[in-house]
Amino acid sequence: MAREPSESIFTNRPAERIQILRSLPVVGWPTLVGAVLLQLVAGLLPVGFIVSTSVLIGRIPAAAAAGTGSHAAYLAEEALFAAAAFFVLQQILAPLQMLLTVRVTRRFDGAARDRLLRASFASAGIAELEDPERHEALVMARDSLAGFWFSPGEASAGTIALVSRYTTCIAMAIVVGAVYSWPVALMVLAGGLTLRFVWRHGLTIEVERLGPLWRHVDRSWYFRNLALGTVAAKEIRVFGLTAWMKERYHQASLDHLKPYSERRWKVWVLPFLPATLLAAATASAALALVAHAAGAHPDQVSLQDLALVIQAAIATLAVASWYHEADMQTQFGLRGHRGLNKLDSWRLGDETDAGGTGRDPAGLPLREIRFESVTFTYPGAPEPVLSRFDLTIEAGASLAIVGLNGAGKTTIVKLLARLYEPQEGRITCDGIDIRDFPAAAWQRRIGAIFQDFLRYELTLRENVGYGAVELADDTDVVNRALERGGAAELRDSLDHGLETMLSREYEDGTDLSGGQWQRVAIARALMAVEGGASVLVLDEPTANLDVRAEVEFFGQFLELTRGLTTIVISHRFSTVRRADRVVVLQQGRIIEDGTHAELVALGGLYAELFELQAARFVDEQPELA
Ligand code: ADP
Repeated sequence: MAREPSESIFTNRPAERIQILRSLPVVGWPTLVGAVLLQLVAGLLPVGFIVSTSVLIGRIPAAAAAGTGSHAAYLAEEALFAAAAFFVLQQILAPLQMLLTVRVTRRFDGAARDRLLRASFASAGIAELEDPERHEALVMARDSLAGFWFSPGEASAGTIALVSRYTTCIAMAIVVGAVYSWPVALMVLAGGLTLRFVWRHGLTIEVERLGPLWRHVDRSWYFRNLALGTVAAKEIRVFGLTAWMKERYHQASLDHLKPYSERRWKVWVLPFLPATLLAAATASAALALVAHAAGAHPDQVSLQDLALVIQAAIATLAVASWYHEADMQTQFGLRGHRGLNKLDSWRLGDETDAGGTGRDPAGLPLREIRFESVTFTYPGAPEPVLSRFDLTIEAGASLAIVGLNGAGKTTIVKLLARLYEPQEGRITCDGIDIRDFPAAAWQRRIGAIFQDFLRYELTLRENVGYGAVELADDTDVVNRALERGGAAELRDSLDHGLETMLSREYEDGTDLSGGQWQRVAIARALMAVEGGASVLVLDEPTANLDVRAEVEFFGQFLELTRGLTTIVISHRFSTVRRADRVVVLQQGRIIEDGTHAELVALGGLYAELFELQAARFVDEQPELA
């Protein structure tokens, strides 16, 4: 189902702007102070330019009368040089402003990326990541840092850039007030700020209105990525979906853009008429007052003052415009801030319970792991998957869990690995509640490969080495894990051996078949064992291997993992039958428990499923039956 974000994600609240200001010091005080000072100076330079050109205008009549070489001509030249100096300084400052803007943006975004990573890895479990509200906050922050929108750093640099705009405006109004009249200065300032407010408010409303349409943007991006990506390339062609895909993409774009364009004039045209009239009226009234006074009392208003007041009044009014360096940045960049702030506030709650009592699980289990009356319901699910569930897993032995799809097999492993926490009951390791161990330390005890294991678009070494990342550079260890996982032949067949990139996106890279990937994943789990894991969990480890490869694999596997606590979830009875003990799970309950031979003799569900599969293999694989 499409994500339905709250409209508020686009709202730009003043409190949040203040929060940006508060977090600005992360860019470093020297950079921050430098950037603000530079903007301040950049805001004052136009004032200097206008004052000196006005002085120049005032001095021209006397200079013209006195002629070249006169003191009056020297004074006019002096004003001209001052104006030129202010102009040149503005040009010199522009690239410096740009440099500092980039620096502020990069530093702020760097810190924001760290915050995002800390927030997403803060919880030991994954339940939090599946929470729709958290997911939305994560996507908001992630997308804004990935360049889909303006980033939080750009919002921060944009906020600093406002300093220069408002400095010019206020300084100009002060010039009008000081030189001519404070009421006129206030009138011009009020007119300019009103129009500026309408500009800014228009942008806020326009973007807010995008809120409910966001769903369609999301959909149109989804279809675009499907159409242009490699993931769906096969299906789109095989099922003849090209035309349909184009149409859906087009429609999703229209769904988003049409109502948006239809509303634009309401946002931009209607509020602008009265505001523009108001600003124009105050500005013309102010200028008319100046002109009238100059006409009525020419002796009281000098040419210099007249030039100054008119230029300064126009410059004050210029506050009413669109700031290309700040407006979109602050409006959109706030989304990333908002996402990060939400994630941070949740993180504080998560971290407090992730540490346990600090007991060390190293070397455990020596006796057993027990699920004791465990009840677990997935967040938002109506029914528990496990209800008062008991299971004892003997240390150093292999256990197979069998059951139909949805019985709860993978859930048992997720709870064991503390990816979720049970609502009731407890899981113990040699009698100690596993919540007493720091979550990360306990998770390192477990080498688990899930059905949806990751296929990293990295080298073979990294794909295996990530089972125990601190040993990934130790070629002997990586090779041992590969050999035990039955992937030595695969490694030898690759052009660059361990260093081969497992992705076609790279020139020398290659992709693997499903079965080959599975061997790499098994090697990764065995790498975890090399790194100290003592509980090995394989969820459908042989689903992608052909029958012969599976038989081969398990022939050596149990031998190699002897002494480890091994849990295997599988539909394949040729896998399951080799385990020391088998439990059959049905709707979250263990209904049969024993060795393969005992369960076959029992004549229950296990025996029934075994018969079915054996019969199929007799039909399909006579040579292996
Ligand atoms: P099995 O491994 O035996 O096929 P699972 O443990 O994966 O079964 O799933 C047990 C039940 O829990 C299923 O009904 C499944 O739909 C549900 N389930 C699994 N993962 C989630 C999840 N993240 N959120 C909600 N329900 C889930």
